[in-house]
Amino acid sequence: MNKRSALDKIAHEIETCTFCKLGKSGKAVPGEGSPNAKIMFIGEAPGKNEAKTGRPFVGRSGQLLRRAIVQLGLKEEDVYITSPVKYLPDRGTPTEGDIAHGREHLMKQIAIIQPIIIVLLGRVAIQGVLNEKKAITKEHGQVVESKGIRYFLSYHPAAAIRFSFIKSKFLDDFTILKTFLQKLRIVK
Ligand code: URA
Repeated sequence: MNKRSALDKIAHEIETCTFCKLGKSGKAVPGEGSPNAKIMFIGEAPGKNEAKTGRPFVGRSGQLLRRAIVQLGLKEEDVYITSPVKYLPDRGTPTEGDIAHGREHLMKQIAIIQPIIIVLLGRVAIQGVLNEKKAITKEHGQVVESKGIRYFLSYHPAAAIRFSFIKSKFLDDFTILKTFLQKLRIVK
């Protein structure tokens, strides 16, 4: 099975997953982008705009993220964007159970795409992928390696939109990320 078909199969699993839908609403948002992406961006959970369209990061925070991706010298269609939680949580913030369950689908997506680096945007992304709690205020702007995969840690763009001091840290992190991607020859 090629990577695109394998990702479509996971998307179908997510769309028919009864656990994923518990306490949540709207369309499934499995993720979008290239099955051959060298870089993945992982957020938290869909918001209202995403739940309406079934596409990740299409609201205000998505616009900030997508602009930052283009600033890195990447095309949106060449990266892969998703979140640990695939439906809009009724209470806004995903529960520990949502994050733990979402990890099952997310790990399959990562295993198919096999990116060179994964950008973890905020606390839920870090917990969803690394299964550990890290203080984003201390660890943002850094690359960590775990089980042979490189991760870059930053803030969630929604936090950057709410607080201007976080926005400048988020943008500074992306400048650091660009230098790192240049070293890896992912961008020029
Ligand atoms: N925020 C996220 O974390 N994910 C989305 O898909 C949209 C907004």
